[in-house]
Amino acid sequence: MRHFNYFENGGPAPSSCIACGAVKELFEIGQLLSGGMAQICKKCVHELAEFNGYVPEAPLQEQIDLLKNDIEAHEIELARVPDKVEALINGIRSSVTDFIFAVSYGIDADKPAPIRNIESTDSGEHEASKAATGQRKAPVKSSSK
Ligand SMILES: [Zn+2]
Repeated sequence: MRHFNYFENGGPAPSSCIACGAVKELFEIGQLLSGGMAQICKKCVHELAEFNGYVPEAPLQEQIDLLKNDIEAHEIELARVPDKVEALINGIRSSVTDFIFAVSYGIDADKPAPIRNIESTDSGEHEASKAATGQRKAPVKSSSK
């Protein structure tokens, strides 16, 4: 990138913007054929840049700040996901345990032996009998792995 000399309070005389005549905040852009240096002021550089499609810094910074806030909000939301998943898993685990508990008590109360024999083909029978003996959490853990 080219380096441009910048004069905050005006350059070596004669010193003024070749576009608008301003005498402060000047960039030196090259040698004039008539002698002296061609200079253009900051305001005219900005106008030229905007005319060329460059976006002013302020709106860009505004958008950057908005995006940063958006990212922060998403990061906070993302950090909560494991807890939410854990709560869902616990809810499902508790529901399944309650269901197994209720089913096994219902089976034991009505007809213990015959129904167990009918259901012995699937794994539900094993868990139901364990839950009935008071090992409430053990069957659920084994079935979730
Ligand atoms: Zn100017």
